[in-house]
Amino acid sequence: MNAYDPDNIFAKILRGEIPCNKIYEDEHALCFHDVAPQAPVHALVVPKGAYRSFSDFATKASSAEREGFFHAVYKCAQLLQLETGGYRLLANHGADAGQEVSHFHVHICGGGKLGKLVTSL
Ligand code: AMP
Repeated sequence: MNAYDPDNIFAKILRGEIPCNKIYEDEHALCFHDVAPQAPVHALVVPKGAYRSFSDFATKASSAEREGFFHAVYKCAQLLQLETGGYRLLANHGADAGQEVSHFHVHICGGGKLGKLVTSL
């Protein structure tokens, strides 16, 4: 993959240059609603560090960043009240997965019965 692009849209959201519909934020992560939801509830969780994708995050983030990020994913799902009904976590890595934004992020989808996961959300 290419080097991290600081002008990707999630980097701009993290810097406050463009708005987002925020759900939760702490020192490690920002959670906000996806602008084009593909489920009744569709949120994104992005780490505050500059990581292009899952493998970048998994190999370069500190254990505190990884722990903080996954805590934020959990916290976001709780705040969205998805615990009882259930939800799906998904992270696209690279071209074959169709990753559009080159800043690592996890999708949280729920709020209703989701279809089988095959090739798309
Ligand atoms: P991915 O294909 O995994 O990279 O997913 C990128 C996601 O970012 C898509 O679901 C988009 O709808 C979403 N997205 C793009 N721009 C924005 C934005 N400005 N605010 C919120 N979500 C966005």
